[in-house]
Amino acid sequence: MHLLKNTLTPVYHLLFPNLCNGCGNELLSNEATICTTCISTLPLTKFHLIINNPFEQKLAGRVNIEHATAMYYFNKGGVIQELLHGLKYQQKQAIGALLGMYFAKQLLDVRWIADIDIVIPIPLSKQKMKMRGFNQSTCIGESFAAHLNKPLDTTSVVRLKNTASQTHKTRVERMDNVKDAFMVTSPNTLQHKHIMLIDDVVTTGATLEECAQAILKIDGTKVSIVTLAYAIE
Ligand SMILES: [Zn+2]
Repeated sequence: MHLLKNTLTPVYHLLFPNLCNGCGNELLSNEATICTTCISTLPLTKFHLIINNPFEQKLAGRVNIEHATAMYYFNKGGVIQELLHGLKYQQKQAIGALLGMYFAKQLLDVRWIADIDIVIPIPLSKQKMKMRGFNQSTCIGESFAAHLNKPLDTTSVVRLKNTASQTHKTRVERMDNVKDAFMVTSPNTLQHKHIMLIDDVVTTGATLEECAQAILKIDGTKVSIVTLAYAIE
């Protein structure tokens, strides 16, 4: 049996080559999901090393958060867009798991991470969840939280409404669109906790802002925000 498997491996790889989800090139035997070249050329923001970084500036005056950081810049047509598209629309969950791990490793030595009690992925509405079958932010968050040794909570906050595409809306329209979109279902769990919200990509920050506001109504809560990618508006 073993002999048969070894004999068939090259044929199998010829028929089903293991391709990088970023660039489409064939992966080496020591690579999985994303090739080393893609990983090493993804545009890091290094926001976690910057005091009052652009992400924190974006949210300043809108919502009272502790910290915000993102790992990569989101470039239209870039590898990160390709990867997030694969995760979200082709259910390639291995992409979320791998990038979540890299993100966690990047933040391991950041001092404020020690203060985080719970990681919460931005939830999808029931209808969206039914349609898509899974939440891409949970996928990233599971791996991220596990590698930071933090509990992941996917039940304490729910999304009540499906928000229409934000792309062509003004800032006021966008805020109206997500207003009252989130509800905390178990306030006792979140009371006096520092919650880290995680999402795949941030553009305007309206969704994250609304979710953070819902949590901040609970007694003694603090909120920090992390996203895998940061789109420049
Ligand atoms: Zn690649």
